Amino acid sequence: MKKVLAMLLAAAMMFSLAACGGSSSSSAASTDAASSEAGSSTEASSEEGSSEEASSGESDVARIQAAGELVMLTNCGFPPFEYIDGTEPAGVDVDICAAIAEELGVELRVVDMDFDGVINALVSGKGDIIGAGMTITEERLQSVDFSDVYFTSAQYMILPPDSTIASLADLAGKSIGVQTGTTGDLFIDGEISDGALKDTGATLKQYKTGLEASLDLLNGRLDVVVLDQFPAQTIVSQNEGALKLSDGAINDSESYALAVNKGSDLLPVVNEVLAGMLEDGSIDELVTFHTENTADAA
Ligand code: GLN
Repeated sequence: MKKVLAMLLAAAMMFSLAACGGSSSSSAASTDAASSEAGSSTEASSEEGSSEEASSGESDVARIQAAGELVMLTNCGFPPFEYIDGTEPAGVDVDICAAIAEELGVELRVVDMDFDGVINALVSGKGDIIGAGMTITEERLQSVDFSDVYFTSAQYMILPPDSTIASLADLAGKSIGVQTGTTGDLFIDGEISDGALKDTGATLKQYKTGLEASLDLLNGRLDVVVLDQFPAQTIVSQNEGALKLSDGAINDSESYALAVNKGSDLLPVVNEVLAGMLEDGSIDELVTFHTENTADAA
């Protein structure tokens, strides 16, 4: 727990430094603290040393270090992985990217945008890394490089408390809400166009966030919302009594990873930081911390 607290503190320091353009000396101090917590400072500094050998010709690491900031692309409507805490972006992915920024000796800047725009934004140079509870898919692999997997999830259903829907088959003829461009969207779309829900009259409605979809569910305009497990759980816990979560998942498990541009020399740094955080249990602790932090934020 101490490690997580130290990391959160380091991340918080980073945000306040970013906000007030803090001096490089205090910035370096917070970098050292977080690096030794992550237990990977030695290896990561040698990554930095060899960063100019990037195969793509231009080094992302050198460019990020010259700019003094790592730009993270995300959608802050996906608790506990990313959400707005007060006025600041927070969440598991934000803390992971803050640790990566620390490793690089730069500040973290979080750009909050629609989820279905993050890959285009990365590819067109509007950011350096996607941290968005993003599932590795074949299609996305055409455009980006994914890091090692840091979390496994699956699609769950958010339902009204009296709903009898319990499985994919029960979605026949129902009005189903999803977040645009997500794996839940793609999964249900496939089931309606060419799967179990074909010819049942089931309809798909897309929303910018799972939360917006859930508001329509609360208003009776949808029968169900299909969303990743943890955000679904968070929304249900924030609407206790008014919504419930399905007992189980409705698809196979999905692997979350961070994404960088193809061939980027940022990838080994990202994987180094992830390895340290997976090994010492920090990621699980961050999931617990941010789940608790968002559970009562109704
Ligand atoms: N894991 C899902 C996906 O990759 C949802 C991610 C999100 O909505 N932020 O599509």
